[in-house]
Amino acid sequence: MSTSTHPDPSRPRVLVLGAGYAGLMAALRAADAAAVTVVAPTDAFTERVRQHERAAGRPGAALPLAPLLARRAVTHVRASATGIDTARRTVTTDDGGVHHYDRLVYALGSRTRGVAGGHDGRVFTAETAAALDARLAEGSGRVVVVGGGATGVETAAELAGRPGWTVGLTTAGVVGPSLSPRGRTHVRTVLDRLGVDVTQGVAVAPGDVDADVVVWTASLAASTGLAADAGLQVGADGRLVVDAFLRSASHPDVYAAGDAAAAWSPAAGPLRMACATALPTGTRAGRNVAAELAGREPAPLRFRYHVQCLSLGRDDGLVQQVGPDDTPGGVVVTGRVAALLKEQVVRSTVRALRLAAR
Ligand SMILES: Cc1cc2nc3c(=O)[nH]c(=O)nc-3n(C[C@H](O)[C@H](O)[C@H](O)COP(=O)(O)OP(=O)(O)OC[C@H]3O[C@@H](n4cnc5c(N)ncnc54)[C@H](O)[C@@H]3O)c2cc1C
Repeated sequence: MSTSTHPDPSRPRVLVLGAGYAGLMAALRAADAAAVTVVAPTDAFTERVRQHERAAGRPGAALPLAPLLARRAVTHVRASATGIDTARRTVTTDDGGVHHYDRLVYALGSRTRGVAGGHDGRVFTAETAAALDARLAEGSGRVVVVGGGATGVETAAELAGRPGWTVGLTTAGVVGPSLSPRGRTHVRTVLDRLGVDVTQGVAVAPGDVDADVVVWTASLAASTGLAADAGLQVGADGRLVVDAFLRSASHPDVYAAGDAAAAWSPAAGPLRMACATALPTGTRAGRNVAAELAGREPAPLRFRYHVQCLSLGRDDGLVQQVGPDDTPGGVVVTGRVAALLKEQVVRSTVRALRLAAR
């Protein structure tokens, strides 16, 4: 059993649930003014934006939490949160621990929607990327990726090089719905070149897909069950309703960030689930917690989109210029240059976390 004992009991206590992009950033920023504890089940940060690479056999780059957190004296409880008591301001964990907080940051991210149980062992998701890699390594046949959004496209392109497997992509809509016509054309051209056969406009259920292996990427659900059970206000989209400062609309001593929060900004409108939004919302939530506890005014989230980046295998990609609200513009960069840019963007997320730890 654990309790969140912190080296400095005289400081206010901030508990951060989740050690993804948003939770880590919030924890490192809140440490300016508080004794911060992160609750997360593993000792390493998962670079979720590389899970399609992991599925394609590339080793995941595990970033150990301990050195990152130690530099800001943030404590880690290695456990999963199981309950929140907003009246007592406590969180329970699956190791029997009870952790008190003055401020809570809820950053439990999201999971692939609608495929619990793995459907005959044929269906995999980004969360089971390592198991998918092992399955693809042991045989050959046909793998179909379901979902035409960024995750589906990146996954299909990455798996296309996998020896012994033919790759298909099926989507109920079109491939790359958030891209400009030029961007979509490039994605289709590269998928054709890689031998990925694409079916558009066909909705399927996991059990219906004619394939040896199915990779389900169709949509994400925010991990807000714990919040809802605790009585925190959750919107129709399943995400925590927050104000401009990222405080829960129903419980202002709880902040939320990343995929779990229905964050918005004047320039961007409602933010989509993305690493690109998790880092800035985590930063803002952490800074606001620190400001509030230090008696300063919190600041509203200011965010605007600049680009969307897609990897299309290791040798091609797409960088799509977008307006402040994510509307695609006319400028696209493609080919190897775009692949290199995308790789730099992914590396910059880890660099941002390392910088925040200093
Ligand atoms: C294959 C793939 C590619 C992607 N590519 C991109 C991209 O190129 N660009 C982009 O912007 N976005 C991309 N995304 C989306 C991006 O990964 C997510 O939006 C981002 O990870 C959200 O960050 P987060 O911190 O909110 O949540 P997560 O990264 O999901 O982190 C949530 C954390 O909460 C922890 N947790 C969960 N439950 C509990 C619990 N009960 N107790 C304690 N801890 C718990 C988890 O272990 C994890 O540490 C991609 C996603 C996938 C799957």
